[in-house]
Amino acid sequence: MSASSEDQFKNIVSHCKEYGFIYPSSEIYDGLSAAYDYGPYGVELKNNIKDYWWQAMVRMHDNIVGIDAAIFMHPKTWKASGHVDAFNDPLIDNKDSKKRYRADVMIEEYVEKIEAKISKEVDKAAKRFGDTFDEAMYRQTNPRVMEYQAQIDAIKTRLANCMTNGDMDGLKALIEELEIADPVSGSRNWTEVRQFNLMFSTQLGNIAGEEGKLYLRPETAQGIFVNFLNVQKTTRQKVPFGIAQIGKAFRNEIVARQFIFRMREFEQMEMQFFVRPGTEMEFYMYWKEERMKWHLALGTPAEKLKFKDHDNLAHYANAAVDIQFEFPFGFRELEGIHSRTDYDLKSHQELSGRKLQYFDPELNENYIPYVVETSIGCDRMFLAMMSHALVEETVPDADGKDSTRTVLKLPPALAPIKCAVLPLVKNKEELTDKATAVLHKLKAHFPCQYDEKDAIGRRYRRQDAIGTPYCVTVDFQTLEDDTVTIRDRDTLEQVRVSIDEVTARVLARTSMANLFA
Ligand code: ATP
Repeated sequence: MSASSEDQFKNIVSHCKEYGFIYPSSEIYDGLSAAYDYGPYGVELKNNIKDYWWQAMVRMHDNIVGIDAAIFMHPKTWKASGHVDAFNDPLIDNKDSKKRYRADVMIEEYVEKIEAKISKEVDKAAKRFGDTFDEAMYRQTNPRVMEYQAQIDAIKTRLANCMTNGDMDGLKALIEELEIADPVSGSRNWTEVRQFNLMFSTQLGNIAGEEGKLYLRPETAQGIFVNFLNVQKTTRQKVPFGIAQIGKAFRNEIVARQFIFRMREFEQMEMQFFVRPGTEMEFYMYWKEERMKWHLALGTPAEKLKFKDHDNLAHYANAAVDIQFEFPFGFRELEGIHSRTDYDLKSHQELSGRKLQYFDPELNENYIPYVVETSIGCDRMFLAMMSHALVEETVPDADGKDSTRTVLKLPPALAPIKCAVLPLVKNKEELTDKATAVLHKLKAHFPCQYDEKDAIGRRYRRQDAIGTPYCVTVDFQTLEDDTVTIRDRDTLEQVRVSIDEVTARVLARTSMANLFA
């Protein structure tokens, strides 16, 4: 991470804490690594993200319905899904620093460094050649760039082979050949690489031993698969149809140092779309595009999002792509779209002995549907929104001078508070009473906040910092003609409007419906 990106990331973390979005979990005991608590504004923003997803997926599609399954599931679920045997990450320890790493991630980071070298060469050449620069041609013909690219391709191929074949010795050999050192201590004194299962387990109260061993679900998807026929029968849905769910998932991540990007307890928003076998690629392409549109509708710049095909596929998938977002630490997975074949339903059918087939009235035949999944982490989405929205900018002050402000330019539909009501001064009862009355009127429609402390400029700044799209100020003129000034977070424009107009104005800009226009 460059120094400025590192600063930006630190800024996000401290802003989240200072303004009541996210606190470290059990902080009075020095926190628990990779666990976080959402504060008063955080929970509102997170709920809004979930609402936007739910509305887009469930309410806007007649053929998608929702469920809320239990976190605990029968232990055989995880045998059938392959998680007991294959939900592993390759773990390596440094013997000197005693730090633990993911072997695959270290190799990927090594590749990123070579990619950065290529970008540097390309930037230099672009400057040298000016308008006549042909980047594609340069990448194909420049000997140094070609050599770097060949290195990248060779490493990626070996990494993919090792991951697909579970070849831990191969990963260790690659780390040694590339002379990858511990980023903290610089030491190359590594242990062997070994598989580490990411599921947390616990024990049922009334059964001793292995029999009573339970897992905290590592993904919400399985709750959907095991309920597939229940839902299909009770809602009379016809294939193709989808089941959506939002809920907690748990993974005992080996390395979890990137704030809410990688947590051990997190929330997923997943949708499984059941289709006729053989049509899965069509729906895979459809959902790939649909999900990208969902992100773009929030106003996220297109250059901050990109598709990245998986180099090595999970045990259940025949196609998989990530939607990556440019976090301060680079492009990383925000959402996955996977064509999961009939792997899960078939395994559950085998292990449970219950038929999980669908009777297709048009084809007049029974089959196990294929599944296309969209899966996004709610917390990662939260971090993406924060990274994109938190800006510092120079704006004119009340007295016309330049000043800097920190503003959270969240899409208004996601903002935790939609409108703040501010009496111009606090020690005039007529004003505070009037402002309280205005607040009372507005708060039935959307989340509002009343603030009377400090000068009006400081109160505006406080609202900017939590992303409030509108501030309404009640002043002496309000007492005469029932008008208020309404200030726009982004344009800073202030207009005087009648109190009766405020609700409609705020709703017009902050309604979730805008995102579906
Ligand atoms: P990664 O490669 O980053 O570990 P993954 O490929 O294992 O992620 P999936 O199993 O596809 O992730 O999970 C779907 C989504 O759930 C991810 O796109 C991500 O947004 C979210 N997610 C996965 N693991 C975590 C985690 N530890 N903390 C927060 N969100 C997560």
